[in-house]
Amino acid sequence: RAPVAQLINPATGGKGKCYPLTSLDEALKATERAHAVQRDWRKASFADRSAVVGKVAGLLRKRADDYAALMTEEMGKTLTDGRAEIEKCAAHCDWFAGHAEGYLADQPIDLDGAGEAFVAFNPFGVVLAVMPWNFPFWQVIRFAAPALMAGNGAVLKHASNVPGCALAIEQLLRDAGLPEGLFGSVLLPSGDIAKLIESPHIAAVTLTGSVGAGKSVAAAAGGVLKKCVLELGGSDAYLILDDADPAAAAKVAATARMVNGGQSCIAGKRFIVVESLKQKFEAALVEAMRGYAMGDPSEEGTKLGPMQSVAARDEVHEQVEASIAKGARLLLGGEVPDKAGAWYPATVLTDVAPGQPAHDEEIFGPVAAIITAKDEADAIRIANDSDFGLGSGVLTGDPDRGRRIARDELDAGMSFVNENVRSDPRMPFGGVKHSGYGRECADYGIREFVNIKTVLVK
Ligand code: NDP
Repeated sequence: RAPVAQLINPATGGKGKCYPLTSLDEALKATERAHAVQRDWRKASFADRSAVVGKVAGLLRKRADDYAALMTEEMGKTLTDGRAEIEKCAAHCDWFAGHAEGYLADQPIDLDGAGEAFVAFNPFGVVLAVMPWNFPFWQVIRFAAPALMAGNGAVLKHASNVPGCALAIEQLLRDAGLPEGLFGSVLLPSGDIAKLIESPHIAAVTLTGSVGAGKSVAAAAGGVLKKCVLELGGSDAYLILDDADPAAAAKVAATARMVNGGQSCIAGKRFIVVESLKQKFEAALVEAMRGYAMGDPSEEGTKLGPMQSVAARDEVHEQVEASIAKGARLLLGGEVPDKAGAWYPATVLTDVAPGQPAHDEEIFGPVAAIITAKDEADAIRIANDSDFGLGSGVLTGDPDRGRRIARDELDAGMSFVNENVRSDPRMPFGGVKHSGYGRECADYGIREFVNIKTVLVK
């Protein structure tokens, strides 16, 4: 075992803990172990699997403060957001503990007297999960609860800046009574992932992360013909139509933008307002974003903590400055504070246009971009003029108009009307275009990692 690079506390810039890396050999052994244990787990009853996953929920609630503090230390999430994330994980476990059996019940097929036919959902095997740092518990549990309930095993390769969370999740599952080895955490550099994918003990891969990581994992999985699910980036657009109430729209917009300090794939990133409402919406959004004051993430009630790292903060600032240089106007924030740590204030840019990073790229930080459209049709065109297609929103005084646009017009995996996009175990989650493919959550999600088997009995 070689040591990993020292972790850095994003709030202070000070040194954090040091974790030993897993060697490739050890990681391959973890896939082998998970594969061996999964052979029994696949035969366990839903009641037995539910008992374990239900216990995970209980332990999460009991340890919420400790897990929230760990996230604050490793990636800067506020304690308040951390506790909410842990509760969300617990609710997700409860949901799948209670509903997996129904989602995976045999489905009869009527062959008009030509025999008995049905669909059965058999477990896939061991799934390799490559996960990001932004919701260190949620991203893993979102995948793991349904995957384990379906009878699968898993090996987790978490982001390299959250090794403590990765090991805590492995321990949590062990403490809840999951068979030893069925879920293994490996602290492996991403350069070794292709070798893990090639392991004969890995059946499929799921990745949540950037487009670049998605391409490289999909290529490796394609090379050995293994299925993958990809949840990648987004540049979610919200349409603010002429009949919207500017203050109500700005409140939804700011909430959508500032989730997890702006570091979320489904954060609202582009706010496309029709010309007639532009000035009122600008003023209202600035007011709403001003409410997100930077503060110590470990203090109760802080609304905006540091970003995950100084490098990520610098990248966001460069995108803001380059956008301004190309014609965007700064309405709020936009200045790097003179103190140690990865701090960046709530920022609003307007007059955002093609050619500017705020228009063309995903900004993974607390920066809202306002784009002006001539009318509804122009707003829809701009929203769809993106490589991404994860979430999207329509803010309007007319729910029927919103429903029509959300249902038929927006090229995205999810479209919410008068509400910010969020994930929920009852609703399928995922994107189109460069935002990835496959779905998590609900019946669609749990059926990604099963063999949808047709059985016919004559
Ligand atoms: P990264 O893609 O850098 O990291 C995500 C995971 O992928 C990490 O475990 C990382 O490991 C690994 N990884 C990185 N590069 C490669 C590679 N070339 N091959 C294989 N694995 C790799 O993403 P970020 O951490 O920067 O997260 C931000 C991005 O993820 C944003 O674009 C965001 O929108 C997207 N995202 C999407 C979500 C969704 O649900 N759709 C949710 C959250 C984020 P290591 O840390 O060791 O490099």
